[in-house]
Amino acid sequence: MSRRQLAMVMDLNKCLGCQTCTSACKTQWTNRRGRDDMLWNHVETQPGRGYPRDWRGSGGGFDGAGRLRPGRIPDRARDYGAPFEVNHAQALNPLGALARPTAPHLGPDTPPSFGPGWDEDQGAGAYPNSWFFYLPRICNHCTNPACLAACPRGAIYKRDEDGIVLVDQKRCRGYQHCIGACPYKKVYFNPTFGRSEKCILCYPRVERGLAPACAQQCPGRIRFVGYLDDEAGAVHALVTRWRVALPLHAEFGTGPNVYYVPPLSPDKLDDQGRPTGERRIPDAFLVELFGPRAPEVLGVLQAEREKRRRGEPSALMDLLIAYRHDEMFRVSRRKGAT
Ligand code: SF4
Ligand code: SF4
Ligand code: SF4
Repeated sequence: MSRRQLAMVMDLNKCLGCQTCTSACKTQWTNRRGRDDMLWNHVETQPGRGYPRDWRGSGGGFDGAGRLRPGRIPDRARDYGAPFEVNHAQALNPLGALARPTAPHLGPDTPPSFGPGWDEDQGAGAYPNSWFFYLPRICNHCTNPACLAACPRGAIYKRDEDGIVLVDQKRCRGYQHCIGACPYKKVYFNPTFGRSEKCILCYPRVERGLAPACAQQCPGRIRFVGYLDDEAGAVHALVTRWRVALPLHAEFGTGPNVYYVPPLSPDKLDDQGRPTGERRIPDAFLVELFGPRAPEVLGVLQAEREKRRRGEPSALMDLLIAYRHDEMFRVSRRKGAT
C-alpha cells in the first residue's frame, strides 16, 4: 500500500459520452509512435462489449486466496480492432470525388469488424424501455495492482506519495504478463518500442498542482480528483462520508481507486405507457458492475434528488452538481491544501 492514494470519482449520471476525455488524453500522451490502439482513457457504452472487446470476461486479477488468476492478452486485430481510416475529406464534402467510401475502412474493400466505440449507444431493451449508459474507464491505480504482481522484471511500481501506478520503461522488456493480469485490460503494448504502457494519472500535471487532463477537460463535470484521506475534499466525501461512489468489479481483488456514482434511470413503462415503479436500468446489471450496494446508493441519490425537487437543501446534490469547477480537484500533495 502507498502512504496516500490519489483517487477519482466519476458521476455516471452526468456523462455525455462526448469522448472529450478520450481526446484530451490521446492528444496529450498517446498520439505518437506505436500507440494507435492505445486509449488510456476511453468511454464505452454499457451494456456492451467494451474496449478491448469483452474485457470483463478476460480474466486476470486475484482469486479469493490472493493468487493471481490467469488472464488473456487481447488480440490486436480481433479485440482492439486494427486501426482503421476514415476518409475525412470526402465525409466533410459529400459532393466531392466518390473515389473512396466514407465508411471506416482498413483497405479498399475491407471494412473493420471491431474498434473502440463499436457498439456505442446500442444498449439493450426495446422501445420504450430501451436503456444504456456511458462508462468512462482509465487505469484504477489499484491498491493491490495485478499488473505489478505479474511483472517478473519488477518494472511496475506504485508511488508511495500518491499511489500512482507506473511502468518503468527502462526495466520493461515487453513480456506483457501485466496486460493479461490486469482484469480491466488497462495496460497496452507498444509494438514500436516493445514495452507496456498505461495511464500515468497525468503525474507531471499532478506534480504541478493540475488535475489530470481527462478530468480537467470533461464538459459534463463528472470527474472529481483528490486524496482519499483528504477530509475536506469531494472524493473523500463521496467515497467515505456519503458512500455513494463504488469501485468497478471490486471482486477482481485489485482494490481499484477509481469510483463511480451509479446511474439513476427513469421508470419502465407498461404497455399503456404508465410508469411501473421499476428502474429502467436493471439493478441486477448495476450490482454486477458496482457490487451489492448499488441499489442502496441509488436509493440515497433518489431521496436526495426528491429533497431538491421539494425545494429543500441537499448537500449531496450540491456536491454532485459541482457548481465550482476548481472545487472538484484537490491534487496538491500537501495534506489539507487544494
Ligand atoms: Fe494495474 Fe490494471 Fe489496476 Fe491499472 S487497473 S493498476 S493496470 S491492475
Ligand atoms: Fe490519460 Fe491522464 Fe486521464 Fe490517465 S489521468 S487517462 S494519463 S488524461
Ligand atoms: Fe463523459 Fe466527461 Fe468523458 Fe464527456 S469528457 S465522455 S462527459 S467523462
